[in-house]
Amino acid sequence: MTFNEDIFKRRSEFGGSIEVVCGSMFSGKTEELIRRLNRARIAKLKVEIFSPKTDTRFMENALVSHNSNSISSTPVENASSILLLGSDVHVIGIDEAQFFDDELPNVCNILANKGVRVIVAGLDMDFMGRPFGPLPAIMAIAESVTKLHAVCVICGNPALYSYRLVPDDSQILLGEKESYEPRCRICYHLPIS
Ligand code: ZN
Repeated sequence: MTFNEDIFKRRSEFGGSIEVVCGSMFSGKTEELIRRLNRARIAKLKVEIFSPKTDTRFMENALVSHNSNSISSTPVENASSILLLGSDVHVIGIDEAQFFDDELPNVCNILANKGVRVIVAGLDMDFMGRPFGPLPAIMAIAESVTKLHAVCVICGNPALYSYRLVPDDSQILLGEKESYEPRCRICYHLPIS
């Protein structure tokens, strides 16, 4: 076998990778995750989707995006459970990755090294603009990072922040339009009137 043939064979056998789809709330992360997973399913690949048990906003066993285009997903207690439940699949989607524990980057690496295509979606920043949970570490080890933007509700520019509308200092406050709105850098720092 020539060197090139060997490389090609290795690539098809061990073609795992990590992709990150991140951004603020309302930036279309879950829609993008669903789009990629649907394409994999059309290609007859075995697909599994996991989300943290913390995020039970709508319903169990469903990966729900804001436009109601849902895919069934498995809620798991912690990142290591994905290794047990996700064996023997080609593509693994992980939604709301920011709510997982710090073992998630390692889990993604183990899966990708085994040849799994891992697609991770989640918030890159919390409402204070701080890097959120294990997601930033996964961005560092990923082959590709797609950062999506919502639309700033104040000025219409691309928004990267999830601005919290209710007075609550805890990092995790589940909610949708009643609790958060997307804002650009300038409007995020506007003085409260
Ligand atoms: Zn703005």
